[in-house]
Amino acid sequence: MPDSGAMTTLAESIASLRSRIAAAARDAGRDPAAVTLVAVSKVQPEERVEAALAAGQRVFGENRVQEAQGRWGERRAAWPELQLRLIGPLQTNKAKDAVRLFDVIETVDRPKLARSLAEAMAATGRRPDCLIQVNTGEEPQKAGVTPRETEALYRLCAEECGLPVRGLMCIPPVEEPPALHFALLADLAGRLGLPVLSMGMSDDFETAVRYGATHVRVGTALFGTRVAPQPTVA
Ligand SMILES: *Cc1c(COP(=O)(O)O)cnc(C)c1O
Repeated sequence: MPDSGAMTTLAESIASLRSRIAAAARDAGRDPAAVTLVAVSKVQPEERVEAALAAGQRVFGENRVQEAQGRWGERRAAWPELQLRLIGPLQTNKAKDAVRLFDVIETVDRPKLARSLAEAMAATGRRPDCLIQVNTGEEPQKAGVTPRETEALYRLCAEECGLPVRGLMCIPPVEEPPALHFALLADLAGRLGLPVLSMGMSDDFETAVRYGATHVRVGTALFGTRVAPQPTVA
């Protein structure tokens, strides 16, 4: 078993993350079971992903449809309890592929995408849960709907498109303290009556849990530094 060292290390890092999440939840008077650790496996080598599966991790986040298809397409069948979450921007022309592969699409951020997802769901018969991505810092280069427009997009998704919208997701600006962004997202979700809050990454997941995160998306703190992507075959 050449991998046993890597497996132990990864199992340990998952266990340690789980206990930090649980401690942050208890501090905030929340049930630790209400917080799900999403392992962000984008650009991670296969052996680390295998080790995470061996350690019992079942919820994974990927940010590119094509990369996720390559990694999970065949493997899905072997892991019935697997849950795959799309956490990166989605092009409308990939909506159908995304609906086929993912169980949750966290990055619905515009009417055109909502309509494409509705069509893809009708065509495939699959209905992955959807989250609306909110650009809480209103950064021009970042995906997501503005906080002001969130309610309107939610109504369009739920009422006009019939999407199963369960919650909100955000990626705070790197140079700002994240707490205000988490509080804003929690407030928006509360007003819309949405139960799912995907927020918090390697550096700030404990803060996110204190502000009500139900899903924390952790990459490097779980798997280690992302290695450079393999060259794509043309
Ligand atoms: C890469 C990524 C993460 C994980 O980031 P880390 O800092 O490695 O934990 C979380 N969310 C999104 C949307 C990402 O793209």
